[in-house]
Amino acid sequence: MDEKKKLFQMALNLSDPPWRVTSIDFDQAEGRMDIHIDFRSGSRFLCQECSSECPVHDTIQREWRHLNFFQYRAYIHAREPRIRCPEHGIKTVNVPWARKGSGFTLSFEAMVAMLSQEMPVSAVARIVQIHEDSVWRILRHYVDEAKKDQDISDLSVPGIDEFSVEKHHVYVTLFYGTKNSRAIHIEEGKESDVFGKFIMKHPFLDPSGIDHITMDMYPSYISGAKEYFPDSSIVFDHFHVIKMMNDTLDRIRRKEARANEILKHTRYDWLKNSSDLTDRERDRLMSVKSLDLQTSHAYHFKIALQRLWQVNVSIAEDYLRKWISRASRSRMPDIVKLGKTMKRHLDGILEAIKSGINSAVVEGLNNKIRTAFKRSYGFKAQEYRDTIIYLVAGGLKLPTIN
Ligand SMILES: [Zn+2]
Repeated sequence: MDEKKKLFQMALNLSDPPWRVTSIDFDQAEGRMDIHIDFRSGSRFLCQECSSECPVHDTIQREWRHLNFFQYRAYIHAREPRIRCPEHGIKTVNVPWARKGSGFTLSFEAMVAMLSQEMPVSAVARIVQIHEDSVWRILRHYVDEAKKDQDISDLSVPGIDEFSVEKHHVYVTLFYGTKNSRAIHIEEGKESDVFGKFIMKHPFLDPSGIDHITMDMYPSYISGAKEYFPDSSIVFDHFHVIKMMNDTLDRIRRKEARANEILKHTRYDWLKNSSDLTDRERDRLMSVKSLDLQTSHAYHFKIALQRLWQVNVSIAEDYLRKWISRASRSRMPDIVKLGKTMKRHLDGILEAIKSGINSAVVEGLNNKIRTAFKRSYGFKAQEYRDTIIYLVAGGLKLPTIN
């Protein structure tokens, strides 16, 4: 065999007979390289059902897209054999460089999976020169496969979070692990039965092994958790408490902005963590904050509430009770209402603080998912929603080029 064929044979990992490189065509004008592979005549292949060596019945000529050779598109061509097993009849043989039914090699698909974790699917499609739908189909296959192998037996503190898609008209519930920070399950809707469905789909999950469940203060989530995880404590972490505070703050600002021009376009100034503000946003916030506005007063409630996670755990309860008492006397209906909600869920908020449940995880996952949605979604939103969530936040073991 000449050196060139030997080199390609090694690069393609075709170390074992019967497969060998028979010819390589290079077309510079067309920008492509075609690698022809064949098996020696008289070769026998294993039946995938019973592992017995069987003779070839017939072959089908096929083509697979492979990793580029420098800037040239590369294709593998081979006769895909079908064997005749005395017990199982006519069966297609799995070629070592591709999975069944795919028009791409395993290495090519691994590269697509790697790139898609870093950039939009549309960009991946452009770079590797295949259709976006093909990229999505590859991703869905590997995500689904990796999900099958996922072990959630070590899940002691799951969290759940609601997620809106299609411009807030459709809700899904996301289950995630707070200890290993990954999205583990997606369920349609945000009713109490999402917990039941979650358990049904994870037969090896032991609900009594779950110490805490951290979540939003939604009545449906709370009643669902009580019903399906009766031995677990329901807690409300920093992220979900502040999210609720932010919703209240934004409601107040929106009402007030109708009469007060100065509040227009300041939405994110109030909602961001103060450390995340740009200089311009900070200056604007400082000048508006000092005015006698409902929004400014509500903002001070937010700042005071955030301090709950900075005070010593031993005085956290006292601190929160004082905050609630101030809220009840605020004469702002939205803040009074929020104070009542906090009072009803006081135990769950304090328990989250005492047990040190870290909500940076859900915040991080949330951001990852939102970014991925923005960059890769488009019209494929519904069809590939779960794929994109698990791809960026599932902590899955996806193929890599080795
Ligand atoms: Zn067989």
